[in-house]
Amino acid sequence: MSEPLLQVRGLAKHFRLKPRKLFEKPPVLKAVNGIDFDVEKGRTLGLVGESGCGKSTAARLVLRLIEPTSGEVTLDGVDIVRSSRTALRALRREMQLVFQDPMSSLNPRMPVGVSIAESLRFHRVGTRAERHAEARHYLEVVGLSPDYFDRLPHEFSGGQAQRIGIARALVLHPKLLILDEPVSALDVSIRAQILNLLIELQAEYGLTYVFISHDLSVVKRVCDVTAVLYLGKIVEIAESAHLYREPLHPYTQALIQAIPVAQPGAKSVSEMGALQGDVPSPIKPPLGCPFHTRCPHAMERCRQEQPPLQSVGSGRKVACFLHDGA
Ligand code: SF4
Repeated sequence: MSEPLLQVRGLAKHFRLKPRKLFEKPPVLKAVNGIDFDVEKGRTLGLVGESGCGKSTAARLVLRLIEPTSGEVTLDGVDIVRSSRTALRALRREMQLVFQDPMSSLNPRMPVGVSIAESLRFHRVGTRAERHAEARHYLEVVGLSPDYFDRLPHEFSGGQAQRIGIARALVLHPKLLILDEPVSALDVSIRAQILNLLIELQAEYGLTYVFISHDLSVVKRVCDVTAVLYLGKIVEIAESAHLYREPLHPYTQALIQAIPVAQPGAKSVSEMGALQGDVPSPIKPPLGCPFHTRCPHAMERCRQEQPPLQSVGSGRKVACFLHDGA
């Protein structure tokens, strides 16, 4: 087993909301509620769950784009949470975020090559000519022509724009890429191309990824380890091969059953009703097991007590009384 590049311990973010009535206690939204995980160098961890489960907030906490309420994050042994602003600026070179919609982070009036080179300028790297040469090089690395340097963002398709987003992150030579739903907005055929590119880049540059997605079929393809989040907590974490072959948590089982069937016109299990109901509000999560309101196996105990995330062997952990003492 290699050393973890990223270590996350007890990470939490509780947002204090405005009270709706005068003198009312401000409600607290527990977006991320104490999560732990490691990501080894050169490997990929998937963070999955339905929207609102806390996966994107977790990504922003890891990068310290938002301040955690509590917990620790270390990158290569360096404490991110307690780093000074100056140290954090240097650390940010080493961990980059790739967005779902790269267009939203590109200046529509700035040539894409200049946008890529801007990341280097922000970190005071090289001369202007060197930065532009690097930008041309990374356009090529992500499968685009260096001649596209002067083109504006609107001249690119969604898949090409995502390649530009990846080039912009890679130009800083990061150790860690956080990929937030990087293929969710793309057509299925383009999606496969971008996933292949990410796999190739990881092999070539020894990159470490945290891959965030609501789509388990995508995560299954690229992630070595998968963590399933529900209402801000990890309910199951395991090597992806184990998790997909034999999911233990009823929520993971439902998500896997909900992966659409490949045959045209066939109904997915979710359409047939595998995962019933909506995610409860994170402002007022259910007492006991947070999944009990949707779980087909819920018992009386599940309504009273919260199951801890426990090791069940082979490096996997699950938070469910069905696997208590396994
Ligand atoms: Fe279902 Fe109970 Fe397990 Fe929660 S602890 S997932 S409610 S069986």
